[in-house]
Amino acid sequence: MAETTQCKSCNRDIVWMGTYAGKKMPVDADTVPDTFEEGDIFDKRKGMVSHFDTCPNASQHRSGGRSSAPTNQEKYDSLAPKLNIALAALRDIAERSKEEGVATIAKTAISQIARSSR
Ligand SMILES: [Zn+2]
Repeated sequence: MAETTQCKSCNRDIVWMGTYAGKKMPVDADTVPDTFEEGDIFDKRKGMVSHFDTCPNASQHRSGGRSSAPTNQEKYDSLAPKLNIALAALRDIAERSKEEGVATIAKTAISQIARSSR
């Protein structure tokens, strides 16, 4: 039988289960089968329900309480258009510049941006 704990934010009984991705996730205890054994993997098809889906305070679980903080991906998405404009300008300089040094600097900057935005 599964060992239950209580969700810190809504006090519902939950069971921590492994996922196929090798992480741990909280599952509503009443949807976990009685046959559950330590090490069993969360499986939606067996009727188990992720507590992320039912917890009224789920956003706190996911972001560690800072639900308003943008993720790195969101930050990058909002910066991407500006970055593309800067990149286009740098490519223009790299192509058109008659001075070898200026073109080299522009090319270096382009490759550094490409590396850091990966
Ligand atoms: Zn909860």
